[in-house]
Amino acid sequence: MMDSATRYIDDYISKSVVNSLSVGVVVLDMSYHVILWNSFMAKHSGLNKEDAVGEDLFAIFPYLSKSWLELKFQSLKILKSYSFVSWKQRPYLFKFRHNRPITGAAEYMYQDCTFIPILDEAGQTVYICMTIQDMTEAAESQRVVDEIIDANKALQRLTNYDALTSIYNRGYIEKQLDVEFSKSKRYGNVFSLIMFDLDFFKKINDTYGHLAGDEVLRSVSKRVGSMLRNTDVLGRYGGEEFLIILTETNEESALLLADRIRSAVEKMSITSSDYTINVTISMGVAEFRKAIKDYLQMLHEVDIALYNSKKLGRNRVTKYVVG
Ligand code: GH3
Ligand code: MG
Ligand code: MG
Repeated sequence: MMDSATRYIDDYISKSVVNSLSVGVVVLDMSYHVILWNSFMAKHSGLNKEDAVGEDLFAIFPYLSKSWLELKFQSLKILKSYSFVSWKQRPYLFKFRHNRPITGAAEYMYQDCTFIPILDEAGQTVYICMTIQDMTEAAESQRVVDEIIDANKALQRLTNYDALTSIYNRGYIEKQLDVEFSKSKRYGNVFSLIMFDLDFFKKINDTYGHLAGDEVLRSVSKRVGSMLRNTDVLGRYGGEEFLIILTETNEESALLLADRIRSAVEKMSITSSDYTINVTISMGVAEFRKAIKDYLQMLHEVDIALYNSKKLGRNRVTKYVVG
């Protein structure tokens, strides 16, 4: 039996506790009529208790998604257990302006919501209690963290990629070559290196202009990139000189691929303003050997092979010959 003291606690204290919370508390009956509306809800919605209690929730907040809430209520009714909806899944349920100085980010208060079924003595769900917690601060911190991550990625792009062609730059490809070379030195797996250089590129610049020359570099990079496996690494080594690291590839396969690339570039028609430009490339191929001292020596060997392609008349592939 409830005596007057417990009734006092039940009635008055619990209500005042509910009202002093910095969390929204709403109780609804199963036809979405408001039974309880605490001070947090009144403060943020602008609708005080007297105007909310007894009303149909969707009549006072027409923007609420009825289908979503109905589904939620149905599952609560069946499962009879607590359910949580994070702001990460659904930024907010109630459109409340947040009371923090505008940071340019969130327009509305981010909310974590819980749904608690209230059962009668027969075990039937008769009410649903919802709690609404202001998560704007957490969401804001997350946003700042996300921005920093994005900025870092952008910075990473700047340090590893070539601005003109968007392929890897010299610093990155040299580092990768060093890594690949060390791996092969240790484990003995083969890889090959291709170096290629555009033929008579100075003449292309002189004839069509520097901007057209830039377009040629971009187009060739893109075309060559599209012909590689995603384990291969393509980088711009110098002005119009490129490197390709072909992982797990022997000289024979590298020569075949190099010639396919050479032929594809030769067939390209590159348009820049009013011009259609054709280019060719000369290529050198070198294969990893245990006897090579370091990656710099391998670069030297592939450079010699490329030089031989130029000497032999350009638009061709030459392999490095040991000895
Ligand atoms: P070869 O067939 O012997 O390679 O002759 P080439 O004219 O290609 O060789 P050379 O080394 O004499 O000229 C390379 C030219 O590439 C000179 C340089 O102005 C141009 N170049 C280098 N970087 C860029 C760039 O970023 N954009 C443009 N448009 N031209 C570049
Ligand atoms: Mg050249
Ligand atoms: Mg050159």
